[in-house]
Amino acid sequence: MPHHDVLVIGAGLAGMRAALAAAEGGATVGIISKVHPVRSHSNAAQGGINAALNPEDSWESHAFDTVKGSDYLGDQDAIEIMCKEAPEEILHLEHLGTTFHRNEQGKLGTRAFGGASAARTYYVADITGQAILHVLYEQLMKHEAVHRYEEFFVTVLVQDDSGHIAGAITRNLRDGAIELFNAKQVILATGGNGQIYNPTTNALVCTGDGIALAYRMGAPLMDMEMVQYHPTTLAGNGLLITEGARGEGAHLYNAEGERFMEKYAPSKMELASRDVVSRAEQTEIEEGRGFDGGTVHLDITKVPRKRIHEALREIVMIARDFAGVDITREPVPIKPGNHYVMGGIKTDTDGLTPLSGLYAAGETACVSVHGGNRLGANSLLDTLVFGRRAGVRAAREAKAMVMPSASRAQLEHEESAIEAIVGRERTGRRVSELHAELGRIMDTNVAVYRDEDGLREALEVVKRLQEESKTVATDDKGTIFNQDVLSVLELGFMLDNAEAIVMGAIERKESRGAQYRTDFPDRNDDDWLRHITVTQNGSDGELPELDYTEVTLTQWQPEARTY
Ligand SMILES: Cc1cc2nc3c(=O)[nH]c(=O)nc-3n(C[C@H](O)[C@H](O)[C@H](O)COP(=O)(O)OP(=O)(O)OC[C@H]3O[C@@H](n4cnc5c(N)ncnc54)[C@H](O)[C@@H]3O)c2cc1C
Repeated sequence: MPHHDVLVIGAGLAGMRAALAAAEGGATVGIISKVHPVRSHSNAAQGGINAALNPEDSWESHAFDTVKGSDYLGDQDAIEIMCKEAPEEILHLEHLGTTFHRNEQGKLGTRAFGGASAARTYYVADITGQAILHVLYEQLMKHEAVHRYEEFFVTVLVQDDSGHIAGAITRNLRDGAIELFNAKQVILATGGNGQIYNPTTNALVCTGDGIALAYRMGAPLMDMEMVQYHPTTLAGNGLLITEGARGEGAHLYNAEGERFMEKYAPSKMELASRDVVSRAEQTEIEEGRGFDGGTVHLDITKVPRKRIHEALREIVMIARDFAGVDITREPVPIKPGNHYVMGGIKTDTDGLTPLSGLYAAGETACVSVHGGNRLGANSLLDTLVFGRRAGVRAAREAKAMVMPSASRAQLEHEESAIEAIVGRERTGRRVSELHAELGRIMDTNVAVYRDEDGLREALEVVKRLQEESKTVATDDKGTIFNQDVLSVLELGFMLDNAEAIVMGAIERKESRGAQYRTDFPDRNDDDWLRHITVTQNGSDGELPELDYTEVTLTQWQPEARTY
């Protein structure tokens, strides 16, 4: 049985940063990923990473922008930590070899991003995530204390008799073998859940696995109703056109030729917070001022052509290949699309969840630094700062304990559960059909604008799909790279995520950040300046329990939010 002081599940930026920190803290580390690590979704991050590094900027300004961006739902103690530790994290990456853009003076160069009062986004063209991910992967390979398990899929977490999380059970994708991994401390860094929506900017692997794994063990999920719609995604397929385009000077137009952001955010215009810009676009489209197919136009020709080729070359190719548009010469049709989940597994500022021995970091976690709305380029930062903090803390805790016992009975139970899935004969719909129905209802009823009736309907669909998923069969009965079995398991994870999102959205009877309720259009600080947590109550088929946590305020009192 493989055993490690610290087991990290997920090898995107959060997982790799956590693994490196734990190894440097003296722990033996196992890091598991269902895909090759450099194919993690962090690889797709285009625009950049925020830090107040410039002497004219300050961490306080970065923190205030983040608090305001979160619509005052972010916990200010956590936001302060993230913004204070950001500059050091960027310099650390630079020293490891990340080729951040440099300006004409040879200094690290920045670009403007939405909701920020200073240009503080550091970047590598529009492949920032890829650049950082490869540098961290090199570091990971260097460490003898880190053992990599690539293309292993975690199906369930295991506990010892006292309830301490003692490891995880995996399926080795190469041969289908089921294995038990034993660990003193477990860090979930499994990324987001965008695949429960269709379309989404997220990769196919973003199915909310870690969120569901923790939820099934009884961990509370927090702020799950806060799902970000990014303002500039390609209509139809959801591919992302980075906010960096607007940061470099691109404008938005409706079909009447108006630069409509003048009406919604006269001072920040296209660089208002994402929730604000997405709502503005959706309003233009719904009120009949959009183009055919329900889009508005992003005009990147405002940016000098040389600069586009230097700083936005990836989206030149994305728009050409997936929309047939040359962004250096013509506007590209875009619309708001699913992008990011602000919510996740509730943690403290060291990544520790309320379950003994279990941590979460990155998009899977809710610390909460993003509250109701995440600022662009704050997520890469979140993965690194809180990934590192979780790794440091887990290594320290591991030193002070012996290996907890993980019983083989749990392994046998999981083996028969998976055998049962493989053994099912198909009688009803395929996984892909259930997945498509889920994506459709979420994108229709749990999107930019929401109301009670639509949310109730979405909950009914999710509950029905949960029932149907219990008997869904696989066509592939083999053991080698059986993607079919994984898709059944992932569907179950996605439905758990969807349940928590919809429950949170029904409960929050106000409009704040990404949650806009047409039946409760105002923010209501008296009743709702608090987090909603959703916890599974253990009995199959029952709805989860809801609870509330106060928002931590340090120096910023809630104010009206205008841009
Ligand atoms: C297109 C796009 C562009 C973006 N651009 C930016 C940007 O410019 N700036 C910014 O700040 N943010 C950006 N974001 C958001 C940011 O990239 C992500 O939030 C962040 O990279 C998530 O990192 P992570 O480490 O938490 O997860 P991921 O990078 O998604 O990694 C998850 C890991 O978990 C593993 N895993 C998942 N489930 C299992 C399982 N069951 N068993 C084993 N392993 C599992 C996966 O294999 C993977 O290694 C962007 C997001 C997208 C989708």
